[in-house]
Amino acid sequence: MPQEKLKFPTLFAVPNAPQSAPEHEFYDDLPEDVGDEPEVCPKCYGAGMEVVPGKGARPCECRKKKTQNKQLDKTRIPKRYTECHFHNYKAFNKSQESAFRFASQLAMQYPAVERGLLFMGSVGVGKTHLAVSILKGLTERGFNCLFYESGSLLKEIQNSYNANTQTSELKVLQPILDAEILVLDEIGATKPTEWVRDTMANIINTRYNDRKLTIFTTNYLDDKRNATEETLEERIGVRLRSRLYEMCKTVPMTGEDFRRTFDHVTPIKKK
Ligand SMILES: [Zn+2]
Repeated sequence: MPQEKLKFPTLFAVPNAPQSAPEHEFYDDLPEDVGDEPEVCPKCYGAGMEVVPGKGARPCECRKKKTQNKQLDKTRIPKRYTECHFHNYKAFNKSQESAFRFASQLAMQYPAVERGLLFMGSVGVGKTHLAVSILKGLTERGFNCLFYESGSLLKEIQNSYNANTQTSELKVLQPILDAEILVLDEIGATKPTEWVRDTMANIINTRYNDRKLTIFTTNYLDDKRNATEETLEERIGVRLRSRLYEMCKTVPMTGEDFRRTFDHVTPIKKK
């Protein structure tokens, strides 16, 4: 594996990016200091307006950043993925390199895209990193994006049936059906009961009918690598798997679990 590490350099630019691509939107203007922003902005001293000598006042950059951060909060990207962005994604093999290409193209070309993406591969190959990067890129471009881990989505829906909770099923579902772009992380992870399958199918089919873009990640593959392993089709059912074929380009990703193999900006620990 050490030689694997050297074969593919870190990708900082989008290969084969179209001329018109708004690359600056998520490469040049990266808010690297998000989260550790100084308490008082050195430009406007917190006033939100910046005085330009001879020209008057204009809204300060820090205000724009705050609006952007607020938008980003609405996407519900979990804290442990805060540092995931295209610029710090590392491809260690061809499959990860091409996954990066599909992801960055989608983030630049949306809404001129036909289908979403289904990132498929074992734990720790960087699927969620790419899905989150797409959401961040599209949020920065002003689209209404949402991230949900599919297990917690199902749990929230289930909890909404509880008479003691203040929420209803519709309240949980509405933002998911409304979001222009949705990431459903780890589809197939929940034990596939009939309710789980129906609920997932309901959500996914509604988004499909509304022509809304959905990006999926899954640890399950289409082919078994050993006798005990289940396929994605076995987890989510034949019909839903074939619906995903229609909605998404399948992007297979292989590789070592980089959380175990390499140091990474965000140490990710499963509970
Ligand atoms: Zn400022």
